[in-house]
Amino acid sequence: MRVLVCGAGAAGLTTAWWLGRHGWDVLLTERDEHPRGPGHLLDIGGAGYDVLDKMGLLPALARTRRPIRAIEYVDQDGSTLATVSYLAAATLLDGRLLTIMRGDLEAALTAALPAQVRLRRGAEVVGVEDGGVNGLGDPLRVTLSDGRVEEVDLLVGADGLASTVRRLVFGPDRLYVRTLGQQSGAFVFADDELAACLGPNLKVLSLADRQAGFCRTADGRVAAFVVHRGDHSPDDPVAEVRRRCAGMGWIVDRALDHCPAGLAHHPVAQVELAGWHVGRTVLVGDAAAAGSVLAGHGASLAVFGGYRLAESLHQAVDLRAGMIAYQQGLMPAVELVQRTGRRAAGWVAPTTRWQIIIRDGVPALAGPA
Ligand SMILES: Cc1cc2nc3c(=O)[nH]c(=O)nc-3n(C[C@H](O)[C@H](O)[C@H](O)COP(=O)(O)OP(=O)(O)OC[C@H]3O[C@@H](n4cnc5c(N)ncnc54)[C@H](O)[C@@H]3O)c2cc1C
Repeated sequence: MRVLVCGAGAAGLTTAWWLGRHGWDVLLTERDEHPRGPGHLLDIGGAGYDVLDKMGLLPALARTRRPIRAIEYVDQDGSTLATVSYLAAATLLDGRLLTIMRGDLEAALTAALPAQVRLRRGAEVVGVEDGGVNGLGDPLRVTLSDGRVEEVDLLVGADGLASTVRRLVFGPDRLYVRTLGQQSGAFVFADDELAACLGPNLKVLSLADRQAGFCRTADGRVAAFVVHRGDHSPDDPVAEVRRRCAGMGWIVDRALDHCPAGLAHHPVAQVELAGWHVGRTVLVGDAAAAGSVLAGHGASLAVFGGYRLAESLHQAVDLRAGMIAYQQGLMPAVELVQRTGRRAAGWVAPTTRWQIIIRDGVPALAGPA
């Protein structure tokens, strides 16, 4: 079987790894010419962690694990209001929790790809022609931005929240993407003084309608994320982040001075599709079912979804049965994560006074530092 997997994030890399291991001929295409860099901090536990274990990747990932001890909630002067221990969370999961940068996860998955997988960077999917949408007829023809046309038995859209494959095959985003009224940004920058003041924890400042968090990266830089109100993707994300987050206090204004032109900026949004496959095309990861950055399980679901898709296809009598089994098996977990994401959106940027009071009071119940 020939498959084209579009997108070399956690979902695409995991799908490609497992399909390659099962002997499929896999072409993995990635829009970016180069690996994406450190990205943001990820917690991976539960089913996603178990898949990485099955893949034998835990020793490599352990070397890049970030030694974050706690989430520390601070006030506008940087004084600690409360800490929530990672150790406690890890204990609840029998220690099966990884805290790593997204770039380190993607690097480990890329390095482990089997020989059956060809990774082609700088190649974006720009067109899909499926002659047998209703009956899995002829192979698909997929056009890439480098001008090549690939004929494949299956196309996997693993190209994230703003998936091109989903738009081309399932229809425009307005039908499936539900924005939760907020935007998020993440960037990494060098500032020795700020890095030193962060210590070993993830520090978070949360105000009524915006949140900023910072931690140190392995090479001594600072990884930052912000979430702020906003219904529409701005034309100039850097200016928007600076405008929305200015005056938060603590180190935020200084950090905003480092905000790079290539800031990763996304709507806080969910993807809600009744089905993840049409003809010979199937979606996985955020492309299929983003729960939003606030749900906190996107990478775990991307890894677990890639595994479930490959296993379902491998075990089924034909492609269609495999895609149906994949969807039926994964949908309940996805619905749970999406409910969490919707609830979290209300707490990060609450709309009522009572929500603000409760949101700010709950971390304090965890106790002082
Ligand atoms: C600040 C922040 C914090 C987060 N924290 C957590 C956390 O603690 N735990 C957790 O589990 N999740 C977390 N997430 C969510 C997690 O990062 C995502 O859910 C996960 O990365 C989704 O993986 P994916 O492979 O589906 O998509 P992506 O990571 O978006 O990867 C998609 C890939 O496809 C490529 N691509 C896009 N279009 C095309 C195209 N047309 N052709 C070819 N390639 C294309 C992109 O370049 C990219 O490499 C967080 C997200 C953010 C922003």
